[in-house]
Amino acid sequence: MVLAEALPPLLTGPRGTVGGIALQSLGNYAFWAGLAWLLGYVLFRRRWAARKIIPAYPAAADIRRELGWSLLTVVVYGLVGAGTLWLAKQGWTRLYWKLDAHGPLWFWATVAGAIVLHDTYFYWTHRLMHHPRLFRWFHRVHHESVNPSPWAAYCFSPLEAAVQAAIFPVVVCLLPIHPLAFAAFMVWQIVFNVVGHTGYEFYPSWLLDSWLGRFLNTPTNHIQHHESFRGNFSLYFNLWDRLMGTNHPEYAARFREVTTRPR
Ligand SMILES: [Zn+2]
Ligand SMILES: [Zn+2]
Repeated sequence: MVLAEALPPLLTGPRGTVGGIALQSLGNYAFWAGLAWLLGYVLFRRRWAARKIIPAYPAAADIRRELGWSLLTVVVYGLVGAGTLWLAKQGWTRLYWKLDAHGPLWFWATVAGAIVLHDTYFYWTHRLMHHPRLFRWFHRVHHESVNPSPWAAYCFSPLEAAVQAAIFPVVVCLLPIHPLAFAAFMVWQIVFNVVGHTGYEFYPSWLLDSWLGRFLNTPTNHIQHHESFRGNFSLYFNLWDRLMGTNHPEYAARFREVTTRPR
């Protein structure tokens, strides 16, 4: 009993249960995908139309399919999240609980560290899931959206959702990270994920001619991946695709075409 009282509330309270984590994941997804939907598909649909990478809009049946799989995904996130907290309870993670144990510099360095780690993890698991033997079981559901909407952000088969969620234990077992830094990383991942699936290109046409464009990934890169099933496995940065020579051969041309259309 004494031990239970000494444990941080996240490990003992309702927020750390399967249901609690699933609900937080759902809130995160619904808020950001809903906001992107409101901006890109309702309020600014006309004003932004020239920047819609694929000019057509997804059908209602596609949106329903994306929503359905995403609801299942948040349950898987709840299961893996609660499992990760169980690991923490056993003392097998490097989570720390007192903010002043490491200071603000460390706090933000671990947010950045989690992002870099996730970028690498995503690239290689994504490439692996495109292997013909694995694709059908893991990744086909996500690729049913050839013209995704923001609701496709969590549209995964349960097996792929488990692969995606495995980044939770990977991060907290490798990095001495505070739960709030982890939460900041989770906001980053959903925002980037939603922007990548909303289907609009926001970057200026000169981006790919600059060092920044060699470094950053773009919505065009990921939408082209959905269109063609070929190349463009990167997430936040374009580094792994460049390093491994896996950018789609038409990536730069597609980006130029989208960003130089007349308004
Ligand atoms: Zn893919
Ligand atoms: Zn996608």
